[in-house]
Amino acid sequence: MAYRMAFQKTGGPEVIERQDFTPVPPGPGELAIRHTAIGVNFIDTYHRSGLYPVSLPAAPGIEAAGVVEAIGEGVSGFAPGDRIGYFTGRPGAYATHRNIPATQALKLPDTLPDEDAAGVMLKAATTEYLVERCARVKAADAALVHAAAGGVGLLLVQWLKAIGVRVVATAGSADKQALARSAGADVVCDYADAATTAREMTGGTGVDAVFDGVGKATWDVSLSALRTRGLLVSFGNASGPVTGVDLGILAAKGSLFVTRPTVAHYYATPEDFRAGSARFLEMLATGKLKADIHQRHALIDAAQVHRDLEARKTTGATIMLPEA
Ligand code: NDP
Repeated sequence: MAYRMAFQKTGGPEVIERQDFTPVPPGPGELAIRHTAIGVNFIDTYHRSGLYPVSLPAAPGIEAAGVVEAIGEGVSGFAPGDRIGYFTGRPGAYATHRNIPATQALKLPDTLPDEDAAGVMLKAATTEYLVERCARVKAADAALVHAAAGGVGLLLVQWLKAIGVRVVATAGSADKQALARSAGADVVCDYADAATTAREMTGGTGVDAVFDGVGKATWDVSLSALRTRGLLVSFGNASGPVTGVDLGILAAKGSLFVTRPTVAHYYATPEDFRAGSARFLEMLATGKLKADIHQRHALIDAAQVHRDLEARKTTGATIMLPEA
């Protein structure tokens, strides 16, 4: 029986319910996928809560791996039986089966198991564009990474260290800080100490870039950690969105730059998609980036998975598995 974990109205995790459905054949340009593993991302909670609007009813989920069961008209380069992974801007991955545009699918190399692909593709794509195409930090630069034991956070630390950046990392508990250190962070600290620690690590100058997926709660400390003309990459809202910004603060803190990027705009063209995907797949294949799948759950438990994520009980990546 095919089913998805969907919501009819936005709200707390309790709005997510099982909904049975009959899969339809793939449309032109589409692949019909039987999911083997589904990735969980904090953005799924924004879709469910209504912070990021979606048309209802909807199922959360923007990345997964699986097997191609059928191909639509005009599709080339894929065949039934292929192992694929995908990430997309369109929610709906919390399902046993799904049709997706073939242009969003990647054939998975033998070296990348389904569970790893489902757990890290979106996070690795995010890390790739944030580090190399958005902040463009380079060897010997210094960076601050918030929520460094999280899904994106652990990958950011690994990627930055792989290219020679000095990293100060924050996380919400001693265990999480130890995890960030084991991923390569040079210095770890509490959120409240981030600016002081960043300045200590840089001889008083401040870091070149801050990677901030926490949002509202870390806005001030992030600005205070930067060097003159440094860059704040504010890429998420785990604590709530940043609103009501007074631009004068950027002048007062040192002619700072701020950007609020999204993966959709950095993976917008087929060329971006091909080049970006090739780059993060290479980082995974060479072991510079590890898929840290720390939580595995049954798909049916999606509501509890959201509770755990929002209660900061997770580290690394979380995946869900459809029952056999
Ligand atoms: P994480 O695994 O990082 O989970 C979020 C973490 O944020 C928590 O574990 C917690 O870590 C920290 N946090 C701090 N304050 C809060 C709070 N008030 N409530 C909940 N969590 C809090 O999630 P992801 O890796 O999936 O995503 C990380 C961020 O990246 C999210 O903001 C997400 O929206 C963003 N993102 C942005 C993209 C883009 O292109 N702009 C693409 C993909 C993700 P701790 O306990 O250590 O504080």
